[in-house]
Amino acid sequence: MVIRFNSLRVLVVVAGLMFVCACARSPTGNSAPIDGDLAITGVNVISMASPDEIAADSTVVIAGGRVVAIFPSGERELAASVEKIELNGAFVIPGLADMHIHLGGPDELPLYIANGVTLVRNMWGDEETLAMRSAIADGSLLGPRIVTAGTLVDGKPGAWPGSEEVDTPERAREVVLKQKSAGYDFVKVYSLMPVDVFNEIAVVSAEVGIPFAGHVPLEVEVADAIRSGIDSVEHLYGFERATAVNGIDLGMSSMSPEKISIGARMNAGELAAGDVFSDTRLKELAILSRDSNTWNVPTLIVLKNFALTRDQADDNFAREEMKYVPAPMRAFWNPDSDFRRAHFSDTDFEALQAYFDPMLDRVRVLNDAGAGLLAGTDSSNPFVFPGFSLHEELELLVDAGLTPFEALQTATSNVGKFLGEPQLGRIEVGANANLVVLSDNPLDDIRHTRDITGVIRNGEWLAADRLAEMLEGAEAKFAASPAQAPEAPEGGN
Ligand SMILES: [Zn+2]
Repeated sequence: MVIRFNSLRVLVVVAGLMFVCACARSPTGNSAPIDGDLAITGVNVISMASPDEIAADSTVVIAGGRVVAIFPSGERELAASVEKIELNGAFVIPGLADMHIHLGGPDELPLYIANGVTLVRNMWGDEETLAMRSAIADGSLLGPRIVTAGTLVDGKPGAWPGSEEVDTPERAREVVLKQKSAGYDFVKVYSLMPVDVFNEIAVVSAEVGIPFAGHVPLEVEVADAIRSGIDSVEHLYGFERATAVNGIDLGMSSMSPEKISIGARMNAGELAAGDVFSDTRLKELAILSRDSNTWNVPTLIVLKNFALTRDQADDNFAREEMKYVPAPMRAFWNPDSDFRRAHFSDTDFEALQAYFDPMLDRVRVLNDAGAGLLAGTDSSNPFVFPGFSLHEELELLVDAGLTPFEALQTATSNVGKFLGEPQLGRIEVGANANLVVLSDNPLDDIRHTRDITGVIRNGEWLAADRLAEMLEGAEAKFAASPAQAPEAPEGGN
């Protein structure tokens, strides 16, 4: 049937009308008072359904940990039993996700919740992590939902003590099967594994249905990693090497002597970013990433902090959030106590800082190409504060060129797409009730994601004073933590 223009317009109007009516009437179609456990009223709902869409002055009703109704405030009656919380003028977004963390233990969980983070992807887990995941899932422990890898899988020798050191495809198969049967959500791959081990992990993970994600190993081209089905590329590792223009040798590590000398020349104005990196090649890889449904977790905040000079590190030690950092971690954040950074001079760090703007460009090109981006911080690395630093990551994503809405997507609706849960990271009927209440509009200025006046976690209302108590509790615990000699923490980057 051919639809002429004017009949099409009629069609649109009718559809619109049906939508409004459906909203006005309760699911049962009558005007009976709406029942539920909790209702927040007078709020501006940022559902993440479409850019810049805000349902002003709305009521959100929650029952059994799920959103059961959203309607213009006052349009429907609420049952007397519903706990009503008037939040006139506040903005509501979905709970935020930090898609790259290293969970130190249960004492950190309140830091995430108090910052509106209701889901975390942990990059190196163990049995304690699995126990926390279950306790949070069954409601006996308050914390963000945990998605976790098992022990980090690397080559032999690996970069971190305690990692799974794998040097043969046979061993790789064993490790993937072991982590699958132990119940981990994905396999974390790391930098020093050989190509044949990486390829076998890709094969086995597809066979048994467990995703793999992590660092593109130094021996693997990022294009090959993307084609192999890696679920997400962390830190955009591999993109730098793959986009270096002919004749530019960046060495074999993220802080190589080659990178330092080229960085110094960029700082001196002898080389422009375009003399070092090929935009054309980057665009090709961005399209490949998009078309292969490979997601990217830039973790801009850790890359920025890793190259801090000692003076800059000292400035960070003076930050308010340091009171939520346990003593051993504080010690390890000192560049001279960190085996990864101690041998670099401040001049080296300044040279490495020349790579941050090209990193922002990489994120912009990926975003423009429509490649998937997820917000991750790499918390517990230097000056990456659990919970708090996710807000810094969102700000850096906006610095890279994303709109506030796009940046918010990387920690909300994109996470749902990535995990294959369409309602996750959205505010809609049927979705899990994980919400963050803000005093100001983050679509105007992304920094407003910090202006938290309440969090709803699995349908439980956590008012600002409760969140403050949770932070005080964490502060007390960490202040009491014994200062012991720093050793390489489990976690890597
Ligand atoms: Zn990490």
